[in-house]
Amino acid sequence: MQRLIGAHTSTAGGLHNALYEGKRLGCTAVQIFTSSPRQWKPASVAPEQVQQLQHARAETGIECVVSHAAYLINLASPDPDTRQKSLAAYAAELHRCAALGIRYAVVHMGSHPDFETGMDLLIASLRQLLAETPNSVCIAMETMAGQGSALCYRFEHFARIYDALPDERLVICADSCHLFAAGYDLRTPDAYHAVWTEFDQLIGLSRLQVWHLNDSKKPLGSRVDRHEHIGEGELGIGAFELILTDSRFAALPMLIETPDEQRFAEDLQKLWGIVGA
Ligand SMILES: [Zn+2]
Ligand SMILES: [Zn+2]
Repeated sequence: MQRLIGAHTSTAGGLHNALYEGKRLGCTAVQIFTSSPRQWKPASVAPEQVQQLQHARAETGIECVVSHAAYLINLASPDPDTRQKSLAAYAAELHRCAALGIRYAVVHMGSHPDFETGMDLLIASLRQLLAETPNSVCIAMETMAGQGSALCYRFEHFARIYDALPDERLVICADSCHLFAAGYDLRTPDAYHAVWTEFDQLIGLSRLQVWHLNDSKKPLGSRVDRHEHIGEGELGIGAFELILTDSRFAALPMLIETPDEQRFAEDLQKLWGIVGA
């Protein structure tokens, strides 16, 4: 089985360029922004973009493309206008993914000054998106670091979403840096296994379908989201060895978002080294 290891690569000059960049870096999967991540403008996909991406998939052998939704999106926003814009932007993202043959659209879980109200708004947003967007694309809910008033940094928060919406299109994107910052220790075998036992009890391991592999500049439980290069942060290389050699996750796309893209190839080599390729 081919391992799916890659990076968030640049789409400068066209979406397809992210795959050629990925190939150059040693990726077998890539994550991309399908439109500008810092703009609201809901873009649609042109037929030629679909063709170019398909051609690039064939040429590079990189079949697995994951999207990351815009950072501006807050599906739990207390401001009704921002929440409506967020719903429209993420719905457009899911439609673009369907057109491009992308299975996973990773999205941040948003924030709200009042946790309970925020969770209710988030669940209402997800319910609407599930009803109004293509079934071929999964909503990949990213585990958050818990910075500020961010929602969904504990497994219990996701369990609450699944209690309300037991839908197969809702899956989890686990970010190693965010998990650690949120207080989930992945550094020793005992701690690591306890985290996944808890995850399995509260959410179910089959719902974890995408990984973001980032080391953390900040310590365990800091609730601060600062990515570090693989093996150079508070997590250390041991955590990545545990994740990459865990057979339960061997089929999942694992994507780095480390701070300096000039060092992506180096980070990826470390990960490939762990899986023995
Ligand atoms: Zn993210
Ligand atoms: Zn992050």
